[in-house]
Formats: sequence, structure tokens, C-alpha cells
Amino acid sequence: MEKNYFREIPKVDTILADERIQSLIAEYGRNIVTDMITEETDELRSFIAGGKEQAQIEERLHNLIPRIAERTASLFEPNLKRLVNATGTILHTNLGRALINRELAEKLADVVSGYSNLEYNLQEGKRGERYSVFAELLCRLTGAEAAMAVNNNAAAVMLVLNTLAKDGEVIVSRGELVEIGGKFRVPDVCAASGAALVEVGTTNKTHLQDYKDALSPNSKAILKVHTSNYSIIGFTESVGIAELKPLCEDIPLIEDLGSGVLVDLSKFGLRHEPTVQESVQAGADIVCFSGDKLLGGPQAGIIVGKKKYIDRIKKNQLTRALRIDKFTVAALELVLMEYLKGTAAEDKLPVLRMMKESYESVLQRARILKEKLSVFEEQLELGICDCHSQIGGGSLPGELLPSAAVCLKAKQLSTAKLEEKLRKAKTPLIVRTMEDRILLDIRTVQNEEFDLIVDTFGGILQ
Ligand SMILES: *Cc1c(COP(=O)(O)O)cnc(C)c1O
Repeated sequence: MEKNYFREIPKVDTILADERIQSLIAEYGRNIVTDMITEETDELRSFIAGGKEQAQIEERLHNLIPRIAERTASLFEPNLKRLVNATGTILHTNLGRALINRELAEKLADVVSGYSNLEYNLQEGKRGERYSVFAELLCRLTGAEAAMAVNNNAAAVMLVLNTLAKDGEVIVSRGELVEIGGKFRVPDVCAASGAALVEVGTTNKTHLQDYKDALSPNSKAILKVHTSNYSIIGFTESVGIAELKPLCEDIPLIEDLGSGVLVDLSKFGLRHEPTVQESVQAGADIVCFSGDKLLGGPQAGIIVGKKKYIDRIKKNQLTRALRIDKFTVAALELVLMEYLKGTAAEDKLPVLRMMKESYESVLQRARILKEKLSVFEEQLELGICDCHSQIGGGSLPGELLPSAAVCLKAKQLSTAKLEEKLRKAKTPLIVRTMEDRILLDIRTVQNEEFDLIVDTFGGILQ
């Protein structure tokens, strides 16, 4: 006769009395451990009911307590964790975009773990404004009269249009009806903000006259959108801010710059991206851009421009709903200060540093990692190869930086399997695969992460 395995499952009280369970309770608390016991034993019942083989059932019964311990521990393993990005994509939206260097992060921790003058004017002893923490820096850096920031750039565009163009018309070129990842589409954002979109020109060409023809008493703004994540090449024409300026005597000329660079990227061998200061200089009344794209700061939607418009935006109810928290305020200030120091930012801010690093320097670092990984030469075929890093984050499409990678293949594991194991490691290592090899593009890997990578391979290959 078959054994009744259901009866073999210990009662909850019996499990609770086990000393291994007692120590779990001491660490995590009785309620959650009891839940884990119930979940594990329920699962075991279904397992038995599923008619599994005797040996399998016995194995699970035998490991009941360790499995409960594992289940509990994994619940307390943070889901959001640090990982190593060896894809070579500098601004990876899936991997958290811009990183903040440790020195700035430590200053940040210091501010946010205590009370702060987030909205308190220490000079006058009265209520202050959170934007004032960083607004002056932004004005100095961009030449704008006023500045503020909200949750992200999508929110900034929505807020700007809602404040300045609601119940009116906003004129946009058909060549700039952008869709950014994650459902941000210019026509939909206009609609959601309460402004009616007036499209002008064609996909490839828009002339000044097109804008002129579209102007009407209902026009509330002209919006330029930077086509961050695609480029139209060939027979094209678009109208710049300076040319549009004369049409905007009474209505604001708004530019959504997307990435918002403050430095000339051509010095890193990249295409020149219009900078925020150029846009302000050319006559944009309002410029908005992301904090965590090429600026290399925290997630934010930064808005700079004419004081009269910024003041109106600040008064919008939506501003309160989209406001940034103290982490962002603190990080933004620290990052902007690096820019104020000039070229120092290029060495301090990880995003700029990664863009700036020469091929030779990446290659040299790749050799160091390869050397470290050579302890596994029995299990891995290791080499160095050339590759290209991308900017990513919907910025500078098609622009590639020559880079170097450690390329490898496991002798006993398929490349797909190795990729999966690296991805699922304790500190996940996200890689690129190419022609049945794994590429670790060293441009986006920091030297401090090399030993971690070695440990990760050690865990998989031993
Ligand atoms: C990225 C981007 C946005 C959205 O910015 P988020 O900070 O990601 O919300 C809006 N407009 C343009 C042109 C962009 O490139």
C-alpha cells in the first residue's frame, strides 16, 4: 500500500518549535515565518497530490525546514539590487540610467539621513522653496532667468504645456512628433495636458512659413521637440529656435531637449548635441530636459527659462503632484556643482567619464580583467576583442564609441546558459552576446567591480 505522505508533514506548531525555525523567528519575526511555513507546507501538499515520485516527495519532506529558511531569506533579499553592467550601453533605462558616484552618494546620504533645510530659508528663518537649493546653479550654467524641476522630463513637458497652452493650440512640426520609450508620445502628452496639437510641415521637411501659416489667435505656444532617439537623414529641413523666435513675441517658445547636455559632446568624439545653454541663448523661453540622461544626475525633469513663465508653472496644482523629493534635490545640487567646476565634471560624473574614456584606456582595463579571469582558464576560453559602446537612453541614436571587451566562452556550458547564470548571480552581471560568445564591454564596468566579476564566475564555474 502507498504511504500517506500527507500525514508525514509536521504540524505547524511542531515546525515552529524547531530550533532552526526559532532562529529564523528571532531574525525576521514570528508572523512572516509562520506565513512561510504555511506557504511551504501548502506547496508540499500540492506536490504530493500531484502524484510525484516517492523519492522526490521524500527529499522535499526531508528538506522542509531548510526550504522554509531559504524561502524566508529570499523574501528579505532586496528585489532592487546593484548589478554590473557589461553591456557597454552607458544610459540603460532598464538598468537605472545615470549612476551617481560614491563620493556624491555619501554626501547625499549625509543630507537625507538628517533633517535638512529643504524648504526652509535659513537666512530669514521662514519657509523657503525647494527649487532654490539648485535653481541658482542651473541659471548660472544655462544662462536662464529661472529654474525648477519635477519628477521626470515627461512630467515636465506635460506640466509646461498644461500651464502655458491648456485650452489653446500648440504648434509642433510633424518631424518632431516623437515617441520615447515607455509610452511617452508627443501627441498624447499634448492631449493629456489639455492643449490642442497643431501639426505643421511634413515628416522630413518643415519650413518657417509652415509655422507662420499655423499661427492664429488660439495659438498658445510653439513647441520644438528634440528627436532624441531617431534621426531623419537625407532631404530634410527643420526650423531652429533662433528662426522661430520672432514668431513668439506673445507666446512662449518651448523646447523639449530630451537629454539636456551641458557640455559639448563633440570633444568626446561624439556628434554635437544641442546644449541647454545654446537653446536658451537662441531664444527658447522654456527648455526642459531629463536629469538622468546625458546630464548624469538623478531622475528629474528640469525646467529652465523666463521667470514669468516659470512663476506660472510653479503655481500650477500639478507641480505639487509632480514634485521632487529631497533625495533628488540633494543629488541635483551636487551634480550641478560639479558642472560649475568646469571640466572636473568629466572625471567626477560617471556618465561623462564613461563617454570620455579613450579606447586605449578601456583596452588596458579589459586586459586587467582578462588577467584576473585567467584563473579560470581551464574552464573558459578568454580573449580581448574590439567592440562599440552605445550611449543609450534614447540619446544620440547611431553614435558609437570604439571600445574593448573581454570576450569569452565556457568550455562546459553553452553561451546562452552562461549568460543566464551570470544574469541570475547574486550580483547579476549583464553582458552582451555576439556570435556565440559573451562580451564584457569594459567601458561601463568600473575597476572596483573586477573582483566582484571574478567571484561571480567563481560561483558559476566551480
Ligand atoms: C527622454 C525624453 C523624454 C522623457 O524624459 P524622462 O526623463 O524619461 O521622463 C521626453 N522628451 C524627449 C525628447 C526625450 O528624449
